[in-house]
Amino acid sequence: MSLSGIGVSPGIAVGPVRRVTRVRLSEPIPASPRAVFKALDVVAADLERRAESADIDVARDVLSAQAMIARDPALVEAIGARLLDDIEYPDVRPDIADAFAGFKEALASLGGYFAERVADLDEIGDRLLAVLSGKAEEELTLDAPSIVVAEDLTPADTAALDLNFARALVVGEGGPTSHTAIVARGLGIPAIVGCDGIMDLADGTVIMVDGREGTVIVDPTEGEVQARETREASLRARAASVVGPGRLADRTPVTLLANAGNAQDAVAAAAVGAEGIGLFRTELLFLDRRDEPTVDEQVELYRSVFEAMAGRRVVVRTLDAGSDKPVPFINAIHEENPALGVRGWRLTRTADGVLNRQLDAIALASREVNVDVWVMAPMIDIPSEAAEFAHRARERGLRRVGVMVETPAAAILADKVLAEVDFASLGTNDLTQYVMAADRLDSRLSDLTSSWHPAVLRTIKMAASGAEGLGRPIGVCGEAAANPQMAAVLVGLGVSSLSMAPSALSEVRGYLAQVDLATCIRAAEQVLAVSSADEAEGIAYDLLGS
Ligand code: PEP
Ligand code: MG
Repeated sequence: MSLSGIGVSPGIAVGPVRRVTRVRLSEPIPASPRAVFKALDVVAADLERRAESADIDVARDVLSAQAMIARDPALVEAIGARLLDDIEYPDVRPDIADAFAGFKEALASLGGYFAERVADLDEIGDRLLAVLSGKAEEELTLDAPSIVVAEDLTPADTAALDLNFARALVVGEGGPTSHTAIVARGLGIPAIVGCDGIMDLADGTVIMVDGREGTVIVDPTEGEVQARETREASLRARAASVVGPGRLADRTPVTLLANAGNAQDAVAAAAVGAEGIGLFRTELLFLDRRDEPTVDEQVELYRSVFEAMAGRRVVVRTLDAGSDKPVPFINAIHEENPALGVRGWRLTRTADGVLNRQLDAIALASREVNVDVWVMAPMIDIPSEAAEFAHRARERGLRRVGVMVETPAAAILADKVLAEVDFASLGTNDLTQYVMAADRLDSRLSDLTSSWHPAVLRTIKMAASGAEGLGRPIGVCGEAAANPQMAAVLVGLGVSSLSMAPSALSEVRGYLAQVDLATCIRAAEQVLAVSSADEAEGIAYDLLGS
């Protein structure tokens, strides 16, 4: 028997299931306001303690953020507004739920990264009730090698994992950007999320987890284990065996760059031999800010990334606030349709000075470090926007100026848009969303948001041809670049650089080293001719191999 989900951290693991179940608090919980605040303090202190002792950076960050939420005076105030009298309430669950609900709504309405914090609030609420009821949450203690299985794992659960024993993680809920996925990748153990039916397995059942494919095999045979382990080992060996700049088998260069949001990512990129940063997502520095960071603060942050990449290229993307990345001090107005609203470059309509100050900061930081700084603007739609951005950047001495091609309009008119700038980078995440008219964050539409759709591939081809006609380089910095077969197809479509998460780089480099340009071009021609994403992906795998 086998189950399937989304593989989010590659690797093969075999072991007995160890289920983690949550305490269900179905009984009334009597308490006074004083007891509730005391319990909230206990929860915050516990989270702080766990944050301090967490071995994994990402778990430490999540736990500290949760502790901060638990100590937020606004949360205390919201609870105080519901539990007014200093008496023993017969059941505090509804009032606590109400207080948390108001808080959650406010976060959810901000969307994107903020909406993801809603899960953290749920966890804090559960912990608060557990402390009040005297029922301790089950601590995840492992005393033998196991595969940890849960409906969902909280960051606190994952931070407490004993790495000597946790061989893999499989959860029933969650998507590729869930905490489980992020933490598992950080730990380097196989993980699968969104695995339906996983909680039906009894403790002790032996399973094999293939974190690359997203498959769980129940009671695997020795032959099944061996076959998957051999395949995984050869994929890893191929990735490790190729070093140096990206090249196809016939020595055609393909520049391999990494995506980064901060200096830590840039250090990880340097460690895997990235030829530079192909997408520095600067908005990550702005997301939790209530006020605009000063030029000096920005200079410091940009410099830290430049220093990690000294001597190499860093493509800095100007602020892509809005849509799934709202920034409180900029995106204050409610939009019916934020993905089609004022985001990216369009912010110059409502917050023009922010972009100018950011360009000032990038220019200043670029003079302080020996680094090849390129700048590009997100959500450029029409040639006049590209021209205006180029003017502002060049005026500040920034010499390599480009645009992201993320809208069908920019791809269709690529020959005109690129005439205004030096280079372009295809943001295939948004380009796919806009070509397919399907929200990239809506998991119900995940079949429509695959970049393998021929409509997306033809749009990429159109943009690449526009760039080629002008002799301008065009790259890809969306998730598509991290899939080895897709990377080869993109090269066949005319793309000359690929930028991806640092963790994906070695594998893409190893894969490209075994295909030649003629094969990439043949694969590109064939995927352009089919009518579905499945056909395109199937053809690419058949022709290019895995
Ligand atoms: C993209 O849209 O492909 C992209 C790289 O930008 P982001 O994912 O940050 O929107
Ligand atoms: Mg984008």
